[in-house]
Amino acid sequence: VNIFLRKAEVEAAVKAAKNAFPIWSSKSPLERSQILNKLADLIEHDLEAFPSSLHKSELVYNCLRLENHILSPSRLNSCLLWFCSVAGLISPWNLPLYLLTWKIAPAIACGNTVVAKPSEMTSVTAWMMCKLLEKAGVPHGVVNVVFGMGTKAGEALVCHPDVPLISFTGSTLTAQRITEKSAPHCKRLSLELGGKNPAIIFDDADLAQCIPTTLRSSFANQGEICLCTSRIFVQRGIYSEFLKRFVAEAKKWKVGNPSDPTVDVGALISKEHLEKVIYVKKAQAEGARVLCGEGVDSLALPAGNRKGYFMLPTVIAEVKDESCCMQEEIFGPVTCVVAFDTEEEVIERANSVKYGLAATVWSSNVGRVHRVAKRLQSGLVWTNCWLVRDLNLPFGGMKASGVGREGAKDSYEFFTEVKTITIKH
Ligand code: NAD
Repeated sequence: VNIFLRKAEVEAAVKAAKNAFPIWSSKSPLERSQILNKLADLIEHDLEAFPSSLHKSELVYNCLRLENHILSPSRLNSCLLWFCSVAGLISPWNLPLYLLTWKIAPAIACGNTVVAKPSEMTSVTAWMMCKLLEKAGVPHGVVNVVFGMGTKAGEALVCHPDVPLISFTGSTLTAQRITEKSAPHCKRLSLELGGKNPAIIFDDADLAQCIPTTLRSSFANQGEICLCTSRIFVQRGIYSEFLKRFVAEAKKWKVGNPSDPTVDVGALISKEHLEKVIYVKKAQAEGARVLCGEGVDSLALPAGNRKGYFMLPTVIAEVKDESCCMQEEIFGPVTCVVAFDTEEEVIERANSVKYGLAATVWSSNVGRVHRVAKRLQSGLVWTNCWLVRDLNLPFGGMKASGVGREGAKDSYEFFTEVKTITIKH
């Protein structure tokens, strides 16, 4: 046990806790409970010696004993799940229908009514869905959609005293603002945020499957999916072969009008977003090589599309881990490929960003896949596949990628209150 007295020592305390974490977390639940039970015994033994306090009772040590979590037979205990009332739902533009239904469905299924604020970039999708909600017989007032800018409509919802919970999907920056603005109301928040997702490809990976899937994970929906891969770590032995084949395939991706079935990549959401996504110059200034796409190949668009915000799938190599291209969420058709040597090294490098949303691991060694998946700081890990979704599984990110989980059971818990009622016999 370390005891830290001054504010300046918080740093040392956090460091000590971080260092102890790998050992403590690898102990079995039995080992941890033995220590907690021992602590309970010691507190019980020494209780009289502690300064007096209202809570100086058996509760103090009993909460440390796991067997006390079994309910008492002499009382009638029940837990009620209760709806929260009005839920605020704020969604982004990149998967506008899916992300709206993903939030509305569990919220109203639990008995809440909602106010949804879709992205100002995708109002038409939300408006079309309103018509279907009406057609489906959703009573008036149950789903209310507010169209407007985030800073006005979104913030008004976040600050409204009659909206006790906010489910938000969007950027980490906006989530910080929402957290700050909702703090005076102590609102319950579910935050699904950005990512900087790694793909880790070991030299025993099946490249025939890995290459087409990693192309999709990098460039699907113009790379405008929070789960898209943007850092590809390839083991040294297959690095050159992977890069050659990956770039050759990326060059085949066709950019243009997405309603043309032969087109793979459509336009980006806006001019501002296209300007933000172009990381190529920044990468080159840092000594990286752009192997295909933006600034390297020419974009041949049909006459009718030339004013659109299109961009070629872009592959950057020889980029340093500290580079902005490897650290910041780009959210466009840009991916970085780098080499690694060992399992230990790649885990550390994959974890060395502020985000922790999704990762993919490619290897035919089952033991390795389990070891790596366990240690990645990532809310979702796909092995030898990508974007295989089961809506019943928890969804969400670690670190700057989110707070909380959504998906069947987790959404149900988020959108309900638990009330414990104890009646003495
Ligand atoms: P954004 O944060 O700019 O906007 C998201 C929503 O928040 C929009 O409806 C916007 O109007 C609203 N908003 C903006 N400022 C607000 C404020 N001050 N108060 C309240 N609401 C406000 O994000 P975006 O550009 O629309 O979407 C892209 C981002 O979303 C990316 O970072 C992407 O990774 C993330 N995303 C995450 C997931 C996930 O499940 N983790 C899914 C999709 C998108």
